[in-house]
Amino acid sequence: MILSVHATFGAAVASLVPTHPGLAFCLGFVSHLALDAIPHQDYDLLSVSSGENRTMQNIDSQEKKKRRLRDVRLVSFDALIGFTLASIFFFNPVYPWIFFLGALGAVLPDFFTFLFLILRYKPLVIFYNWHSNFFHSKIDLKIGQLTGIILQFCTLVILLAVLFEVKYLALI
Ligand SMILES: [Zn+2]
Repeated sequence: MILSVHATFGAAVASLVPTHPGLAFCLGFVSHLALDAIPHQDYDLLSVSSGENRTMQNIDSQEKKKRRLRDVRLVSFDALIGFTLASIFFFNPVYPWIFFLGALGAVLPDFFTFLFLILRYKPLVIFYNWHSNFFHSKIDLKIGQLTGIILQFCTLVILLAVLFEVKYLALI
């Protein structure tokens, strides 16, 4: 799923354990893997030669650079939106770092994957396989990118409703 969704949901699960920063981070990380297992459609990264997009092998270095820059901007913007939403909805003034730790844990798996795909840094290959091939849903929704992103936010709202309903039921 996209980073905005991961960061917001990571901050939400972290908000359930405000007195345990380590656990908040770990829950954020685990929430990423759970969310990725749900069938979804992401936006395309133009600089990544994986899946159906294998065009990177046949283009010149100038174009590669342009695509990489576009992807870095897009992913950074996505992450920025995520951390902003996470802080708007889950910032707790008593435990001000908890939302950040949850969101950070939740975006880290994709950050490692992005680093591997861009830099082909070998030590990350095991993590890449684990994240992208084991946990990530293989179901192709065959929908457009914009519809896919809207659907991801709808999924996020449903999951947040379920999460806080469970929390509410656990408290009464
Ligand atoms: Zn992911």
